[in-house]
This record gives sequence, C-alpha cells and structure tokens, in this order.
Amino acid sequence: MSIFDKFRTVEQRLALLTAGGGRNPFDVMIERPVSSTVGIIEGRETLLFGTNNYLGLSQSQRAIDAAIDAVRARGVGTTGSRIANGTQSVHRELEQRIASFFGQKHCMVFSTGYQANLGMISTLAGKDDYLILDADSHASIYDASRLGHAQVIRFKHNDPDDLHKRLRRLEGTPGAKLVVVEGIYSMTGNVAPLKEMAAIKRETGATLLVDEAHSFGVLGPTGRGVAEAEGVEADVDFIVGTFSKSLGTVGGYCVSNHDEIDLVRLQCRPYMFTASLPPEVIAATMAALDDMVAQPELRTQLSQNAAQFHAGLKGLGLNVSQQVSPVVAVTLETVEEAIALWNRLLDLGLYVNLSLPPATPDHRPLLRCSVMASHTSAQIARAVEIFAEAGASLG
Ligand code: PMP
Repeated sequence: MSIFDKFRTVEQRLALLTAGGGRNPFDVMIERPVSSTVGIIEGRETLLFGTNNYLGLSQSQRAIDAAIDAVRARGVGTTGSRIANGTQSVHRELEQRIASFFGQKHCMVFSTGYQANLGMISTLAGKDDYLILDADSHASIYDASRLGHAQVIRFKHNDPDDLHKRLRRLEGTPGAKLVVVEGIYSMTGNVAPLKEMAAIKRETGATLLVDEAHSFGVLGPTGRGVAEAEGVEADVDFIVGTFSKSLGTVGGYCVSNHDEIDLVRLQCRPYMFTASLPPEVIAATMAALDDMVAQPELRTQLSQNAAQFHAGLKGLGLNVSQQVSPVVAVTLETVEEAIALWNRLLDLGLYVNLSLPPATPDHRPLLRCSVMASHTSAQIARAVEIFAEAGASLG
C-alpha cells in the first residue's frame, strides 16, 4: 500500500480529460491579462468569459495606484496573524469601511473568502450544534462543518419548504441551529429565495449566515447582495463575502451586528493562525470599493450584459441556467461532450470554465460562463457566435 494509492482515481479522471487529444484544463493559463475582458492564452488574445471579475475591477487604475503607494509606504507583507503582529491600522480601517458599507456594527477581515467561511461557520457551529446547509453549498462551507464538528443537515437546493421541514424536526433539541445559504450559487447562477428563508429563520429562531461571495457588488440597490435586494438584511445574522470577485483583489470578510464578533476573533482558528492580508491588498481593496460605490452604473451594465449573454446562448438552444445572473451555466449531457465543446471554444478564442462531476450540482457536466460589466456588447455577441460555431463544428 503506497501513500499515493488514493490519487489513482484522480489520475484516471485526468487521463479522461485528455483522452480525445484535448487540453489538460489545469495546464491552461492566462499568460498575461490584456484588459479585464481579454487575456493572452496559448499566445493568442482570448475573450475571458470565465472569471469572477464581475465589475472588471482587477484592472482598476485607482486600485493599482493605491497598491503601489501602499507597498512604498508599508512594504509587501505583515509577517503575522491578526491576533499577533499582523494587525496594522489599515486592517482596522478596512474593517470599518466594510462594516459601514453594509450598515453593520462589526466586520472581521480574513485572508481569503474560503477562510472567512471556514472560520465563521466552524466557530459559530460547534460540536453540539446543527449546521443546516443548502445541498449545493460551496466547499468552504462543507469544510467548515468538519473543522467545527457540528452535525450537518442538508436541505434541497434553494427549497424553503425543505428547509422549514428540517428545522421543525429539530424543534426542542438543545443545540443551536445555524442555517447557511449563498446569495448567487457559483456554478449555476441560481439566486437564493432569501425572503422565504428569512421568514423561516424568524419563525424557528435559527441563526442565518449568507455567503454573498458572488452577489456582493452584483445584486441590491447599492451592491450589498441578495439580502439587500430582497429587503431582509435585518434577518441575516452574518454576511460573509470575498474581495476576490467583484472587487478584483483577495481576502474575505464577515459583517454582523452581533457584538460577540469580537469574541469570535479569539476562537476562530482560520483567523488566528494565518498571516493577515498584505497592506497593498488592503489599499487596492479599499480603492476598488471606492470605484464600486462611485460607479453604480457598473451594476446596471452588468445586469444588461448578463441578460444579453443569457438570451444569446438560450437562442442557440443550449441548456442554460434558468435564472438570469452574471453566472451562466451551460449544462451538457455527457462529460465527453463538455470536454470537446470547452476545447473547441478555446480554439476559437473563448475562455470559459469546464466543470465536471463530482464537482457539479446534480452530477452533470457544465460549462460555467461569467459576464462582466466591462464586456462590450460586441464581445458578448462574439462569444455567443463562438458558441454557435463550436456547436456547429462538433455537430
Ligand atoms: N464562497 C463561494 C460561494 C465561492 O464561490 C468562493 C470562491 N469560489 C468562496 C466562498 C471562496 O472565496 P475565495 O476564492 O475568495 O477564497
């Protein structure tokens, strides 16, 4: 028995990806970004329709300048965790900015969005508690359940009735109940029916945490996410999110009105035992937030772009996501079909994400596409055309 035996399954899956002569998707790289919407891949300009850069802010001039200034003033890193030498004034400043953007009392900033979920959920839901999760939850949420040892109960994806039923069954049990849902689901673009879920939370007395990773900067009148869009922010106990999508940098956060957040800081291992964000990332994140607040038209453009792209793919007869959001998933019948289409799209100059079972909801292969505010109408039309050409060439 070798320590590497357990890798044989993944090795076989990898071999399947390249069996028909296609690329290994894990070898594909953006050699150089040309703009937020175009990158050099395999030496050629390629349209990017598979990023999380919803507002195009990874290339924000304001953020670039702020990062350079911060590096010159403070150096490149903190060399410590938030509870030791890794808290500089800029970390506190960012926490205050994020809290006030959300109109909440407290904010904790983490080094990644993954750690924000891992840390908050594992610390809030301990071994005597129940974690009630949407079946399609992100890996960071499932991993948190292992770190915290809470008992996991899954409800059907985006199904408030099933959530209600499962919470009612727990009535009278002593453990706390933490319900976790996402705003926009990363693979499918499905939006959580948060109004109904918030009503169930009120009725049952559960605690509600919403991961707005993909909906921050995208939904709601000021971009605060699905809770703002649905008018239920008062019912959400904890909002978690990331800077690595709409703000184009890296880092995670949790905002809340619960004063106990300051005690969470002292028990939350993914916050305590890792180095804090470097100052240039903090400066770039605050500048990107300034951009987002100053340009609400980015959100309007994003939703128009999402509608154009979704309608275009639907018009080709593809099996696209039901709801219109910046994440547009094209579901395919077979893994072979998905691999061939993904390769053909890239040959023709279009980059999207290849997502295969078991990492997909319903265990069906999909091409996960995403739209940005900075895509032009012509780029979207071209992307749809490339799908048509690729489909035709593959029959
Ligand atoms: N939550 C969700 C729903 C996500 O999709 C992701 C990233 N794919 C994360 C959390 C983690 O965010 P980050 O990549 O910033 O660590």
